[in-house]
Amino acid sequence: MSNEIPVTNLDATAASAEDSAEQIELESIHNFAGKLTQPGAREALESYVRWQVALRTGESVEGADFDPTRVPDFAPLSINLDLTTACNYQCDHCVDLDILNTGIRFDHDKLLSSLAMMAERGMKSVIVIGGGEPTLYPKFEDTIRFMKDLGLQVAIVSNGTGNKKIAQVADCMDKHDWVRLSLDSGTDPTFQAMHKPRKSFVLEDICAVVPEIRAANPDLTVGFSYIVTWRGANINDTSIVENLHEIAGAARLARDNQFSYISFKPFLTRDEANNAEVIDINEQENWDNTVARIQTQIDEALTLETDDFKVHRSTGLKAMLQGKTQTLAKQPRQCHMQFFRQVLSPLGLFNCPVYRNQDHGRLGDKNATSDQLAYDATRGVTAGLIQTFNATSNCEKVTCLYNDVNWWIEHLIEKPELLETLKAQDAEPDYFL
Ligand code: SF4
Repeated sequence: MSNEIPVTNLDATAASAEDSAEQIELESIHNFAGKLTQPGAREALESYVRWQVALRTGESVEGADFDPTRVPDFAPLSINLDLTTACNYQCDHCVDLDILNTGIRFDHDKLLSSLAMMAERGMKSVIVIGGGEPTLYPKFEDTIRFMKDLGLQVAIVSNGTGNKKIAQVADCMDKHDWVRLSLDSGTDPTFQAMHKPRKSFVLEDICAVVPEIRAANPDLTVGFSYIVTWRGANINDTSIVENLHEIAGAARLARDNQFSYISFKPFLTRDEANNAEVIDINEQENWDNTVARIQTQIDEALTLETDDFKVHRSTGLKAMLQGKTQTLAKQPRQCHMQFFRQVLSPLGLFNCPVYRNQDHGRLGDKNATSDQLAYDATRGVTAGLIQTFNATSNCEKVTCLYNDVNWWIEHLIEKPELLETLKAQDAEPDYFL
């Protein structure tokens, strides 16, 4: 029998880890193990696994260049890039509220050299996201075009107020790139109550620009993102506006405005103990009723699917609806994804979107990869954090999308001979992590 590890079905791998229980079916966009096996990613995966083996056994692999104080010479395969901390909304559900509009910004030239340095060292994709609203960055269009000229896959997550700017830059993007608008509501009154825009923005007007983006580039995927909220959820000592009753209505709005899909994910709050982003499942008596109401709405939304319009439920939402959030919260001691995916923001470089702007996830400042000296120093900090950051305890309440791939890499480190048997999936390249 073959020892091959299936990269499109992670159950077998996860089952090898004692602590990993029944797995949640993953959306294909979350098949991270498959992504790490693609040409262009696999070399970094192999180097990392061999580096870990040498670190743990003290024995360097023949022919491999091993330095215990630095991770292998690869930039993260994918980053989240927070272009700015500026935002024109005041969302009650924002996990980054305390860092918004702080005036801390990138030096643009240094940002570009950071991106060029990482692209040269193997970075393949960038998700431009918040912190703040990326289209408010004064050189938004320049930055997107610069990254496309570097050959990177680029995604933009926006609140929708800069849709005209996205339409202007859409021509340089391709079918592997995507745009996702965080709208979270099916009617304008709920949209206003949740987002509290600082200027007059109306949900229907935002959606009405989507056909313009699609016309500018019909290959570009444009998604409607919906964070599902419920009565009793809290963040920043503030009660959250409930929107779960508008799930199906939002799906209709998205379909009518030529979005490619709508995706639903659960509301996250900050854990009191370590500020990690966690699902706010509270002790309310009617929790089962809340879950049932969400399920009814999702079922209705699913009936609206067409060949051109899809309805996605995030792994976290599926876990919540199935009462299995704990399944994705049992992490190995070391989080390997810190090497493959990081967050670059004007506030620094961080190990995970969950620890964006948190000191215990910090890998460096905003210029941590802007030149060779800084990049090499950051390789040292990353090596240290991989060894000292205890994911089992730090992330024990996090419904982590990277749970499966972390266990999969852990298994490869235990049995590095399996590296030889990995087969790349036969799919369009997708390097977003
Ligand atoms: S285990 Fe998951 S939540 Fe924790 S640092 Fe790693 S990727 Fe982030």
